[in-house]
Amino acid sequence: MKKEDTIASVGEFELIKSYFTPLSSSEIAGVTVGIGDDGAQLAVPEGQELVVSTDTLVEGIHFSKGDDPYLLGRKSLRVNLSDLAAMGALPCWYFLSLTIPPTTTVDWINEFSRGLKADGEDFGIGLVGGDTTGSKKALVITITVMGCVEKGSSTLRSGARVGDRIFLSGTLGDSALGLAYHLENLKIASSDDRIYLLKRHQLPEPRVVLALALVDGGVTSAAIDVSDGLTADLAHICAASKVGAEVDVEKIPLSAAAKRVIKSHGPEMLTKVLTGGEDYELLFTVAPAMVAEVAAIAEKVGVVVTEIGDITAGSKVNINKQGKPINLDSAGWTHF
Ligand code: ADP
Ligand code: MG
Repeated sequence: MKKEDTIASVGEFELIKSYFTPLSSSEIAGVTVGIGDDGAQLAVPEGQELVVSTDTLVEGIHFSKGDDPYLLGRKSLRVNLSDLAAMGALPCWYFLSLTIPPTTTVDWINEFSRGLKADGEDFGIGLVGGDTTGSKKALVITITVMGCVEKGSSTLRSGARVGDRIFLSGTLGDSALGLAYHLENLKIASSDDRIYLLKRHQLPEPRVVLALALVDGGVTSAAIDVSDGLTADLAHICAASKVGAEVDVEKIPLSAAAKRVIKSHGPEMLTKVLTGGEDYELLFTVAPAMVAEVAAIAEKVGVVVTEIGDITAGSKVNINKQGKPINLDSAGWTHF
């Protein structure tokens, strides 16, 4: 590779100026000082609170060297937006910290920043700062998002109460199956299914609009985004709320593609669906009196939501098949 094709020929400040400063759109409200000073200065609207969340993507762990940088830019922002959705916060601003080997091509940066720009505009969130450093080997992307929510109305993991119903947006497990196809060569007969499942892995849909509508309607008692797998993330809600949960496996929403994969490969695939991560769907609980509201809100925003179980007393989280708990050998993704 020629040096002039890499970022080593561009330099840190030129890189920021050419590729990242243009992502700080002037249409983003509340930025009194943006990129270019030692810190950003942001104005949180009166009566609101700031919600901040950060997520890191590491080459070799969260993505592979050859992955499409445009999609990677979009996904890096989306996984973070999903955390804001889980809190019920409106996306406002973000920081980007890049640790990049000098051999990274200018093309890669260009495509990556183009992906960030596309989704930044789509979701109404503007870049307000970051950090750019060199790396000896792996590329590391850290995004920190900031959102605003009406004081006291964010949706926490700790709000679930006994008797609440458990809801899930979209479909579960597509991302885990798409990843298994991508990394482990999982055989998927239909090319349409392969494309669909891979796309669900590469470009998750953060449920921002649904989450905001649910907060607006005051219907959610607790929420989390499914990043580590349904079993693990439901357990997080239960631990924080000091409750248990019973989920009916037959009620879990699956895509037609996922159904076909489970049918042809057998029950291990169901384990993947239940415990695999990166769906970025919204898992939330609702008091019985508010259940009717959920359907109306879901319809209004055009997102399918499905009731999958109940919050119970105690601390057990069971996924049941015909009333009996399924034994899952893996409880979800952990790093260590
Ligand atoms: P300092 O040395 O004071 O930390 P930097 O040179 O790191 O300042 O950054 C200069 C400006 O560029 C800051 O406003 C910072 O937020 C911004 N910046 C640096 N890297 C990025 C990036 N990857 N994306 C967006 N803004 C960045
Ligand atoms: Mg710095």
